[in-house]
Amino acid sequence: MPAYRRILLAVDLTEESNAVAERATALAEAFKAELHVVHVIEPLSLAYGGDIPMDLSSVQDQIHEQAKSHLAEFCKNLDVLPERRYLIFGRPESEIHRVAESREVDAIVIGSHGRHGIALLLGSTANGVLHGATCDVIAVRVGTREKHR
Ligand code: AMP
Repeated sequence: MPAYRRILLAVDLTEESNAVAERATALAEAFKAELHVVHVIEPLSLAYGGDIPMDLSSVQDQIHEQAKSHLAEFCKNLDVLPERRYLIFGRPESEIHRVAESREVDAIVIGSHGRHGIALLLGSTANGVLHGATCDVIAVRVGTREKHR
């Protein structure tokens, strides 16, 4: 099996990102691959459409600053070099694809909640990334609880 040379870890910077990152770093170590990390900030105007009749630019700036420092800390802990970190505005699925293609990564590592029922129909970032990806997509199961029978 050909080795992965460059792996892209997509993080939403929630608590769950740590579990996804653990898998990605283990994979990168096993293959001696470069690890790159992307976080996408969804513009408030995209998330809420034109529904909020106020100027959101200062709120958006604050979100950007917070995400920047959070991503920097997260990547520092993983020993990911600054030039391998991407903080981008847009829709997560399409921006993750864009980074994956421009950096020619072999695999994207992403968290998946293993949704079912109506939530599955509504889709998830993992589903969106899988559709249309031109490289492997590794979905790390997160946020599941053991069922007591
Ligand atoms: P979700 O489907 O939104 O629950 O997200 C599942 C996974 O998609 C997360 O664990 C991340 O790997 C990835 N993801 C979600 N949102 C973002 C984002 N804004 N930027 C980068 N990756 C994301």
